[in-house]
Parts: sequence; C-alpha cells; structure tokens
Amino acid sequence: MTNTPVLNHLSGTGLELGPARDAMQDGPWRCATDDDGITWLILDLPDSGANTISNAVIEGLRNHLSALEKDTPGAVVIRSSKTAGFAAGADISEIEDLLEHGKVPEALRAGHHVLDRLEALPCPTIAVVHGAALGAGFELALACDYRLAVDGASFGFPEVQLGLHPGLGGTFRLTRLIDPTEAMRLMLTGKSAHTGKAKRLGIADAVVEERHVRGAAGAAVRGELEQAGSGLKARALSLRPARLYSAREMRAKTAEKARQDHYPAPYRLIDLWERHGGDSAAMQTAEIESFAELLKTDTATNLRRVFFLRQTLKQAARGAHDIARLHVVGAGMMGADIAAWTAVRGLSVTLEDIDTAALGAAVSRTVEIAKEAHLSDRQVRDAVDRMMPDPKGYGAAKADLVIEAVPEDGGLKAKIYHGLEERMKTDAILATNTSSLSVVGLAGQVARPERFAGLHFFNPVARMQLVEVVGQPRTDTHVLDRLAAFCGSLDKLPARVSDYPGFLVNRALTPYLLEAMSLIDEGVSPASIDKAAEEFGFPMGPVELADRVGLDICLAVGNSLGAGVEKPLAEISDRLKDLVKQGNTGQKAGKGLYTWSDSKPDKRVSDADPPDDLEDRLILPLLDSCVECLRREVVADERTLDAAMIFATGFAPFRGGPMHYARTRGPAEIHDRLVEMARRHGPRFEPDKGWSDL
Ligand code: NAD
Repeated sequence: MTNTPVLNHLSGTGLELGPARDAMQDGPWRCATDDDGITWLILDLPDSGANTISNAVIEGLRNHLSALEKDTPGAVVIRSSKTAGFAAGADISEIEDLLEHGKVPEALRAGHHVLDRLEALPCPTIAVVHGAALGAGFELALACDYRLAVDGASFGFPEVQLGLHPGLGGTFRLTRLIDPTEAMRLMLTGKSAHTGKAKRLGIADAVVEERHVRGAAGAAVRGELEQAGSGLKARALSLRPARLYSAREMRAKTAEKARQDHYPAPYRLIDLWERHGGDSAAMQTAEIESFAELLKTDTATNLRRVFFLRQTLKQAARGAHDIARLHVVGAGMMGADIAAWTAVRGLSVTLEDIDTAALGAAVSRTVEIAKEAHLSDRQVRDAVDRMMPDPKGYGAAKADLVIEAVPEDGGLKAKIYHGLEERMKTDAILATNTSSLSVVGLAGQVARPERFAGLHFFNPVARMQLVEVVGQPRTDTHVLDRLAAFCGSLDKLPARVSDYPGFLVNRALTPYLLEAMSLIDEGVSPASIDKAAEEFGFPMGPVELADRVGLDICLAVGNSLGAGVEKPLAEISDRLKDLVKQGNTGQKAGKGLYTWSDSKPDKRVSDADPPDDLEDRLILPLLDSCVECLRREVVADERTLDAAMIFATGFAPFRGGPMHYARTRGPAEIHDRLVEMARRHGPRFEPDKGWSDL
C-alpha cells in the first residue's frame, strides 16, 4: 500500500473518510485504513456516474480480500463514492459475452465464492448504503455483517424486470436475514424497500445521517448495534410443510400478475425457495443453476433488449437543456401533473389557468405526487414551494420553456400562443402537449416556429415514462435536443417523432382499440377481447384501456386520426358513439363498455368460443401501423419505435417490442396473414407498403 493522503476525490461530496494511514487503488476499488483500524473499501467505478457490479468489481474485491484475510483489520466498511448511490446492480453489458462463451455458471460460481469470502472475514463487515443498492449491489451489502442505511437509501432486487431472479446469493441471504415471505415479496415484485421499510424489515440495522456514519460504524464494530434477526417466522418457514403452503399462495398471487410462459423467473424463484428454503448451501447451488438457465430464455433475452432500449432513450436525453424555469398554461389533468412532476424533480415552475380552483387542485396534486415519489416531508414542502400557481401568467416572461396544455381546440391554442409570445423571452421554447392536433398546423399559428414543437406527455404523467418530442420541419434541431434533455432531467424517456396524426404511439394504438370496438359490434364479449390481449402480453386489454382512458377521448382521437391517416381505419362503432352520447364514458362514469365498481370492471361474461383469429385481429393492425410509421419516417428506427411502444403502452416487454416481435415471427408471414385478413374482414387489414422493406 502507498502512503497517499486519503481519497481526496471524496472531499466535498459528503463522503469524506477523515484521516487514514494509507490508501490503495485497485481498479474500481479504493482502500484505506483509518486511525481506528477500520479498513474502508470504496467502490468507485471509473468513468461512470454510478457503480455497477462488473467482473472488474468482483476481481478487485477478490484481491482486497486476499490482503484482508492475511492482515485482518479491526473492521471492514464497504461503501460507494458515487453521489448517485451504492450500486445499481450487475453490469448487464457483460452478460452476452458470458452467454456466448458458455461461461455463465463459471462466472456465477466465481462471484459467489468472492462474496462467501467477504462473509467469512473474521472481523465485522459493514456496508454503508446511501441511495440505491440494487440487484448485485444489494447482494454485496447482504454479504456484510451489518448494513447502515444513510437516510434516503433503498434496497431492491429488480431482477424480475430482466426475466431473472437474484443470482449472486440474494435468494438465500435475504430469506435468511429477514422474514422469508417479506424477502420473497421483494424479490418477486422487484420493488425497493426505502429507508424506513428497510429498517423495519431488518435489512438495515440502523438509519444514520451522513455525518454520523463513522460513529455508527464504530458502534457496529463494538457490537453496540442490535440486529433484528428473522425470528420465529423464519424458523417456522424452515419447515417444508409451511413453505409448501406459503409457496402455493405466492404462486397464486404471481399468476394474477404474470403468466408462467411469459415470465418464468418468479415461478422459478418460488420453486427454489419451496425446495431449499432454510438450507443456504442447497439454495446457493440451486440459485446458480436456475439463474444460468433463466438467462438463456427468450424472455430474459428480450427483456435485456428492453433494458438497452431504455439506455438508448436515456442517452438521447443527455446534455444541457438550459431550462431553469418552466411555465405551464392549463392546470387540467395534464398541465397540473406536468407542473407537479417538474417541481418534484427540482425545477421551478409557474402554472397558469383561468380557473383558480384548478390551480388549487394542482397544489394538492404536487403534494400527492411528491409523496408517491417517496420524498421526505421537507422535500415535499420544497417541491410545493417550487410549484407556483400563477393565475395572471406572469411566469411566462421569465420562463425558458412554456408548455401549453389547454383543451384540444386549435382556435383556443392559437389565441393563447399569440398572447404568450408577446410575453415570452424571444429565445424561450414554446411546446404543446396536444395529442391529436397537427403540430405543423399549430406551428403556422406562432411567430417563432423554429422554437415551437410538441412535447407529448402521457397520462398519468408521474407514472408514464415516455414523452414524444414532436418536431415539425421548421423546428430548430437544437430546440429538440434541449427538449429531449429536459425530459431526461424529469427522469422521462424522450422519443423523437415527427408530426403525423396520433404521432407514433396513438397512431399505432388507435387501430388496435378500434378493432376491439368492431369485435364488440360483431358480438364478441369485451372480456374475451381483453383476455386475448392480456394473453399476448399487454398489461391490460384494449376494452378496459378504452374505458379507463374515457370513451369520449377515444372517440375524439378516432375521429381526428381517421381524417388524416393514409389507410382507412375501422369504422367508428355506433355503440361507441351511442355510449358517449348517453354519457357512459367508461370508468369515470361508472359505466362504459364495462360496468365499473371500486375502480374495477365487471368482466364476468366471456365467450366460450371466441373467434380463432382474435389475437391477430388486435395485434396485426397495430404492427401494420408501426410499419407505416417507419416507412413515413415518423420515427427514425425500429429500436426507438419498440422502446416507445413498450414504455408508453406496455406492449409485451418480454416480446422485445412490436418490431422485434414482427421480426421474430417473420415479416413475410405477417404480410400474408394481413392479406388473408383483408379478404375476410375488409381493406383496413391491407398490409402497408413498408412490409416489403423489412
Ligand atoms: P383539461 O380539460 O383537463 O384541462 C385543460 C385546462 O386548461 C383546464 O383547467 C382549463 O381551465 C384550462 N384552460 C382553458 N382555457 C384556458 C386559457 N385560456 N388559459 C389558461 N388555461 C385555460 O385537459 P387535459 O386533459 O389536461 O388536456 C390538455 C392537453 O393535453 C390537450 O391538448 C390534450 O389533447 C393533451 N393530452 C391529454 C391527455 C389526457 O389523457 N387527458 C394525454 C396527453 C395529452
């Protein structure tokens, strides 16, 4: 070890370690021993804002452990130097290579061996976690004797979202540490346990403020920290009959959310625990085998694709947006949520509306959204302070970006732009949240079209990840870059699209929704239609979706889209028009295509024998519209299209996106099927010209 002063890079980050005798850097790890004889192992992945558990991290840890086994210090503390958090999980980019060379089991065993050695160190080991400890990062922390959570820390296993379960010891270490049913719940849902919950569950031994980390580490070393232990329940569940019963319940709950043939991982995890729970050694061996098998499945392969699609959209959202102040006009369903979410994400926003009640409601929405985002009480207050109701619209003069979210009426929007542009800074951007009006048409109503674009958020804003950034021929590219970066700062995924009726997402989704209506007109029950879509892998069928969105909105979108697209859409069903006329607009009215109670549709009636081409009748019009959007360059490429459809509509992620599905199934086969269906059901099924380019 060299005698370097100490981890200078940490100074000013709140992560200073204080004086130490020596420091050593080995790849992603920095190591220093302080005057109390505690060795600090600091994870600091070079050239990255966040830590992932890569092969180099495991290798580096192995080297440090060899030294620590020979010359054991008073204690070892593991923590991260990144302000972003502890560690985000395994480095997924290394997986394909391991798979290709058949080295997954070997790499897993090597990783397990290193964490086993960490666990076996004869001195106390302490993980200090700030921010998120996810996946393999959480598993690293679990291999330590103690976990100290800095306020705001969270722990989770998001592996199910990648078609996997934990693979670096998480299955047996977490079920051993805390109540096994709680452990299984965390692993099966992929949800994180935030600080308070982590402490309650016994994942974190103590919650500390950053400035007290050293003191708390000292207390752990002296054995002054009480550890919760998994208690009676764990002992009961170490008996097989109790586990059998519990596993059966878990399977039933899982089946409500995901089918085994679509998402095998949660079922494999339940099997694993049912067979081996309570026996760490057996569970470890089984975890490695099961993880290696899951990694090879189509589901996991496609979900990794989705992971990288997300990264691609995130990368497009990097860069400076130079938007310090936002002004939103229209505090309705969308405007209020856009303003609230922006304030929650740390930006100042003024919100204008002619209706003061809407502004009042927007303040309450900010509190609600901030709480849902797990902000502390003080942070909730700060977010509310940043969200300023502005009935007179003074904020427009100071804003760098103005988002218009008034009702869908071209005349009204044009009038508002005129008033706004007189007040706005000349270099500020004006964006519309319209979902069905032409952005090119609206650009004709503004004085500075080069600074005008669409910024199409989806409902509910806080939860929907995608935002369509809609350019029109006169929009400055730099403006689009800034809007994409602005979306990134809101933790949203921007997809750049060009102006077309419905842009990309609604263009592709509308034929699917309208086809569902046609099927109802033909006598197919709504429940059978939804079941077919859910079996394909949508989180919710089209009929339920239409009822939830509102049949009035669906009708308006269908009407406005029908007028502008190349190919005729399905006739808008009389039943849909009648329901809207009667005020039966769906969930919000208590009645629509379904009858609703307690926010749930009544799906009891379904057909014994639905049409055998039901799934294709729903999915193929959607795929065909995607091909049309590619051909017309509404979206630049298949990857962006797949990402947009997954993140905006929930299109079966395990299928990797609509174009990936089309490619896997075979474009020629789909083309021929469309020709056949056009013969049977009408010209709306005629395949788009673009199929031949695929
Ligand atoms: P909304 O009717 O809920 O809200 C519109 C708000 O604008 C109301 O509060 C109203 O008082 C206010 N308003 C009307 N005239 C105004 C004026 N002159 N100055 C200031 N405020 C005024 O509408 P919404 O559902 O939030 O939709 C707004 C926009 O977002 C529309 O263009 C819509 O197409 C688009 N959009 C809606 C959804 C959705 O699901 N609702 C989704 C995506 C996009």
